[in-house]
Amino acid sequence: MKIRRNKPTLFSKIFSEFLLFAVLITALLWCAQTLFLDSFYKAVKKSRAAEALENVTRNVAADGEVLEDTMSDIGAYYNVCVMVLSERLEVLSNYECEPRCALHSLTRSQLAGLCLSAYENGGYLSEEWELREATSTESRFSYKTSLFTSDNIINAAVITSDSGSVRIALVNSHISPLHETVSTLRILLIWISAAIFLLAPILAFVISRSISRPISQLRTSAARLERGDFDISVPSDSDCREISELSDALAHSAAELSKAENLRRELIANVSHDLRTPLTAIGGTAELMRDFPEERTDENLEIITAEAKRLSRLVSDMMELSKLQSGVEKTDITDFSLTEVIKEVSRSISALARQGGYNIEVSVDGDAVVTGDRRRIEQVLQNLGANAVNYLGDGTAVRFVQTISDGRVRVDVIDDGEGIEEKDLPHIFERYYRSDKAHKRSSDGSGLGLSIVKTILDAHGAAYGVSSSPREGSDFWFSLKLADSK
Ligand code: ADP
Repeated sequence: MKIRRNKPTLFSKIFSEFLLFAVLITALLWCAQTLFLDSFYKAVKKSRAAEALENVTRNVAADGEVLEDTMSDIGAYYNVCVMVLSERLEVLSNYECEPRCALHSLTRSQLAGLCLSAYENGGYLSEEWELREATSTESRFSYKTSLFTSDNIINAAVITSDSGSVRIALVNSHISPLHETVSTLRILLIWISAAIFLLAPILAFVISRSISRPISQLRTSAARLERGDFDISVPSDSDCREISELSDALAHSAAELSKAENLRRELIANVSHDLRTPLTAIGGTAELMRDFPEERTDENLEIITAEAKRLSRLVSDMMELSKLQSGVEKTDITDFSLTEVIKEVSRSISALARQGGYNIEVSVDGDAVVTGDRRRIEQVLQNLGANAVNYLGDGTAVRFVQTISDGRVRVDVIDDGEGIEEKDLPHIFERYYRSDKAHKRSSDGSGLGLSIVKTILDAHGAAYGVSSSPREGSDFWFSLKLADSK
């Protein structure tokens, strides 16, 4: 594994990013309080005052108590002072909720000026008024332009009814000074910031460790795997789904790699052994025939031919299996009659049976159509049939039995031959596995026949298995879904 020292570790990255996040949040809180609180508060107040005026103008046509009540309701709801004037500036309704209201402190001439400005401005006006030191006769309020230092907003609207009568609606929204609130918030913020700066590193440490620990364990395991050490441990107790899945994937890869490595070793050992035996026999017999003319017998020629055949079967089985497992050969998936294939294979084996003196029986319970690669399934039946014949020993019959039930078809290839020892049964489908007995017989088997069967059946998603007992015979079976049950 390449070690990249120039890159930060996961722990330091999460730790520093968490700290940065804490600093940013604190800075944001301070900015919100010191820079934006005031202007945000005033903007909200302004929009509420405009909304209140809109409500007032909608209800300004009423008279007497109704007008009075409606204006009080609106004023109380929006927390604003409301005044409705006639064209001659007579007060028709008056709601006052704030003693520091600019509207109610205006002189009559200031009020008249305001109404005139609203009239000249197309019927609407919004002005800010600031409290100032009261001078003898003047109002305590003066008009100002700067938004941020004002403490009252007066909105005015001139409304002309259909009958031509004019009413002037005035709304005053008081902007309370925020200094006290701000200083209370500031103290609170100082405490919050102190708590963040104390707790953030501790939290950052705990979080970074809990995230980075399983990942660094996985990294160590992956590095060991890379060195060819398949006995790795992966974190199994992670709370995160991704890490658990990664652990499972790594554990699975380790198991598969270890299996592949074992297979590779076994393959080399078995191939060299299995190839060497026939080659030695061929070479030895040929030399004998070359050196001693009297050894040029039909028997020795038979040995050479048989061993050459065995060698050729071994090589072709090895190629077949590696082609199947590497997936280089395309599969030809069609719907076909499995029953037909059973009959064809049993017919081809029957030819041998006539010479060997045993029976081939076929029992089918209907026409079973399945989806798959016909040629491959035929190969499965060929291999199982050939094994049944090869290991028949003193047995007398090989039976192909087809049973259809529950949307599946099961095929049993049964023989009453020598059977398989219980200890061999779990390994029988493994590559190059040949029971001791079979090995001693030095049959022309390659030890790959059942491996080929297993690979094909796995690719078809078939269920398969074997039941056998020594000297009583074996039952190799597989079951496939029927095509019309899908
Ligand atoms: P081989 O080329 O040796 O037959 P296979 O993979 O086809 O290789 O079979 C593996 C081993 O399983 C055989 O060597 C044999 O010991 C055992 N075996 C397979 N089929 C039968 C059977 N029908 N009866 C008894 N033993 C069997």
